[in-house]
Amino acid sequence: MRLSQFHLHTERETPAEAEVASHRLMLRAGMIRRLAAGLYTWSPLGLRVLRKVEAVVREEMDRAGALEMAMPSVQPRELWEETGRWEKFGPQLLKIRDRKDHEYCFTPTAEEAVTDFFRHEFSSYRQLPVNFYQITNKFRDEIRPRFGVMRAREFVMKDAYSFHVDEDDLLENGYRPMYEAYERIFTRLGLRFRAVAADTGAIGGSASHEFHVLADSGEDALAFCESSGYAANVELAEALAPGERPAPSESMRKVDTPVQKTCEDVAALLGIPLARTVKSVALMAEEGFVLALVRGDHVVNEIKLAKVPGMAGFRMATEAEIQAHLGCEPGFLGPVGVRDDVRVLADRSVAAMADFVVGANAPGAHLAGVNWGRDLPEPHVVADIRNVVAGDPSPDGKGVLSLARGIEVGHVFALGKRYSEAMGCTVLDESGQPVHPSMGCYGIGVSRIVAAAIEQNHDEAGIRWPEAMAPWRAVVCVINPKGNPDVAAAAEDLYRALNEAGLDTALDDRGLRPGAMFADIELIGIPHRVVVSERGLAAGTFEYRARAADAPEQLDRDALFTRLA
Ligand code: ATP
Ligand code: MG
Ligand code: MG
Ligand code: MG
Repeated sequence: MRLSQFHLHTERETPAEAEVASHRLMLRAGMIRRLAAGLYTWSPLGLRVLRKVEAVVREEMDRAGALEMAMPSVQPRELWEETGRWEKFGPQLLKIRDRKDHEYCFTPTAEEAVTDFFRHEFSSYRQLPVNFYQITNKFRDEIRPRFGVMRAREFVMKDAYSFHVDEDDLLENGYRPMYEAYERIFTRLGLRFRAVAADTGAIGGSASHEFHVLADSGEDALAFCESSGYAANVELAEALAPGERPAPSESMRKVDTPVQKTCEDVAALLGIPLARTVKSVALMAEEGFVLALVRGDHVVNEIKLAKVPGMAGFRMATEAEIQAHLGCEPGFLGPVGVRDDVRVLADRSVAAMADFVVGANAPGAHLAGVNWGRDLPEPHVVADIRNVVAGDPSPDGKGVLSLARGIEVGHVFALGKRYSEAMGCTVLDESGQPVHPSMGCYGIGVSRIVAAAIEQNHDEAGIRWPEAMAPWRAVVCVINPKGNPDVAAAAEDLYRALNEAGLDTALDDRGLRPGAMFADIELIGIPHRVVVSERGLAAGTFEYRARAADAPEQLDRDALFTRLA
């Protein structure tokens, strides 16, 4: 690519709205441009990087035997009703209507659609296992889209779904090969990452691991033990064990509420007096806290997130922090209960009651008549690592814990039969009996990876792409091409030769002054820079500089090719 014929639009100024390095640098490099909250246009430069990530993901999925397909972005309500997720997915699900007043959603994930495809195409265990994947845009109406494409509303996800005759086959021929493919993908992309055990959350299921790119700006807290290999997302500490989620009790019913902005709104709507605690919670709600639980003049809340001073992300707050925040006595707060994805912290008197209201500040997201014991069971503490500090003993007793922050870039999940059962999807097993296939689902945040890679690889001058993701691996810069035809010809020749040798190379023939040209090249993060100048040409050398190196070196053509090939 000749940069004179490309569209590069770099900026010196640091954009005020960007909180993290990757967002700042993607804007300054002109990789993305904001269209609206959580919606970004990828420029030709940005798209080159995105496509490189996609290519690695696609190659490794293909290598692992997964089959690429594509499902619609817009999916009918009826399909999502089959699994109950039309309601359960909550406000992240973007719902739309067509001219005939039929309802649809913009797909945030595609378990329903792929299971529908499967049930029409497959009939026998002999056709299994099978794994389908797609790389498509997903939409989630995130409560707090931020950090650019890191937490966008529309984003690119690779999602794969495997089908198996039983759970053993799922773990052996679905989950494990996908886990290994993910290790290869993130290794090839040149990222420092870690796989951690994760909460199986609202979906249930038997096994779940997240892949995190390690970065201080990450929103997740990870605990791991170097000597034993134990590694977990601290969220896991509060996971509800699979199978423990009870059916809703009879008294539980939905309250039709409009969007609630604050706890005052909730209390007013429900006709409940505001206690001191409500105000505290409302304060926190301004920072993005949403869930509230109200009863009598007691207000109890899901306020288990706290902004960590000096860090961009949120983490789970400790009970002591919440107590301090609410100004209540130790012992005032009772247990934490879980319902689907809602975690609720109650005061002790409320936890003893059998009929109260739980809600979130989203339309129609309130439940009345909730029974604590039945509907909000205490989370199963898999390993209490919520409040660990570095050096604490590992839960497996085999060493000490270190802590790190991570950006979730991939997730593998053994789902089991939840979707196949809900959607009446069966195949005949060896004995001719219909069985519900066991499923796995495997996601990768393709567009998030671009931002995560920058969080890990940048300096004051700009981005430092890992080789596999760089928009071009090398650039040939020409000093004063118009004024010196020999220099221009030599640069052109080198540019062609490097591309022919298989190195994806750009030619910077824009005729900028060296300072401005080099600043751009460093900002957009090209790993290898070669300068062709009159002086070098006379000496028979090129000036070569690796993006990460302190100083350039003079290399002759052979040495240059040896270095770059
Ligand atoms: P998070 O915890 O960050 O909200 P998630 O657990 O909700 O992510 P999954 O349902 O596991 O996400 O989706 C698979 C992958 O899609 C995630 O591992 C992540 O890399 C990516 N992803 C999820 N939400 C977003 C988003 N809003 N913007 C960009 N990428 C996302
Ligand atoms: Mg999410
Ligand atoms: Mg997650
Ligand atoms: Mg996830």
